[in-house]
Amino acid sequence: MAMYWEPAGLQAFRDTSGTVFDDLRSATAQLLDVSARLSSLARENPDPSVSAHLATAMDALGASVTALFASVDIKCTLAEPPSEVDTRPRGPDNEMVTKCFHEPAHCWSGAGKYVVCP
Ligand SMILES: [Zn+2]
Repeated sequence: MAMYWEPAGLQAFRDTSGTVFDDLRSATAQLLDVSARLSSLARENPDPSVSAHLATAMDALGASVTALFASVDIKCTLAEPPSEVDTRPRGPDNEMVTKCFHEPAHCWSGAGKYVVCP
């Protein structure tokens, strides 16, 4: 049975029990929520030393989301063959973005909305 990640275009290729998948989805949502709060803090605090620490924390959160996605083999299915994805802070505002390795790439915001890649 195929499992689908919520955002259209991202699909999990590894079968997992519904409970495990729900736990992974919940953990991912928590990581992305913390990331959004850190991003907001960074925008409100222009101190470069503080924003550097926040960026480091967001990098770690992005690496965690990437690992969670990889654990169920989530891939972008908007082009063939399906592509692995990578989540990290991207763009001028350091927003968390999931990006595939297609050429041209597809991107999703931390909230799971399909966006133009930054
Ligand atoms: Zn793609």
